[in-house]
Amino acid sequence: NLAVHRRETCLFRQSYLLTDVLGKGAFAEVRVAINRVTGRRYAAKIIDRKRITQIEKRRKMDENFRIETSILSRVRHDSIVQVHGVFQECDNLYLVLDLCNDGELFDEIVKREFLQENDARRVMLQLFLAIRHLNRLGIVHRDIKLENILLEDKNELRIKLADFGLAKIVGEQMFMKTVCGTPMYVAPEVLTVRQIGQYDNLVDMWSLGVVLYICLCGFPPFSDELSPPPMRDQIIHGIYGFPSPYWDGISDEARDLVFQMLQVDPRNRITVDAALAHPWLKARRVGSAWV
Ligand code: ADP
Ligand code: MG
Repeated sequence: NLAVHRRETCLFRQSYLLTDVLGKGAFAEVRVAINRVTGRRYAAKIIDRKRITQIEKRRKMDENFRIETSILSRVRHDSIVQVHGVFQECDNLYLVLDLCNDGELFDEIVKREFLQENDARRVMLQLFLAIRHLNRLGIVHRDIKLENILLEDKNELRIKLADFGLAKIVGEQMFMKTVCGTPMYVAPEVLTVRQIGQYDNLVDMWSLGVVLYICLCGFPPFSDELSPPPMRDQIIHGIYGFPSPYWDGISDEARDLVFQMLQVDPRNRITVDAALAHPWLKARRVGSAWV
């Protein structure tokens, strides 16, 4: 297990050389970190605690960091970013993580405009297997979106799920009641939580439905840039379409999986096991065609 190093001297800086900036998020800066002994390259997620002056916010941030580290250290899966070290020193928090060299899936889709069905299938298969693994550990990610899906290899589309700051471990009778996450990907029952009162791991399946939709056509199902109503109402009532010409060449199986993932009532939403058995995911290459 990972001990958190707490001290004033910077053991992290002594052990790792920080180089290129990989990205910036709401709370953190992420940079390439090279282990000074082994020469191995990692991603270091660095949180500058001094920037947060409000004691309440700092406590919340420390709490998120503690959650992220405890969750990541329990998870071991090919498609999930692994944590290799945790440091709390010199007013900084450091997470040493698997390095995903090829950036965010978001940028790759912007570059390609959208993914071919077989490429989308490859990405979704990895994501479903990652989510099934998390489900078995009782973990809900809660912030699945293209910016948090990282590419280990963009040509083979090997991905890793990242950013567990919002993830929570769901206890037997404990339901999550916090409203959080990014609106565009957020499940309807999260938005209407006061009426419904509880929601569970199926919120990740909704977000993955949004991811699948964007992968296939290159734009989101719910957005304030389209026609009214506001995005929140589009989500709550499940108002979206498969507009022509963008969806014309996309298979019925793919549409059906999107449809089953974007079910407003979580009780009607497809589970991860059912998704893994869905015809679209079971398609296999025969010669040059997918059947
Ligand atoms: P936040 O919680 O602030 O959103 P993230 O963990 O999502 O932080 O990291 C912010 C960004 O940094 C990501 O969107 C990505 O571009 C980059 N990044 C994060 N982790 C890695 C990693 N392991 N390898 C490569 N880039 C990463
Ligand atoms: Mg993020």
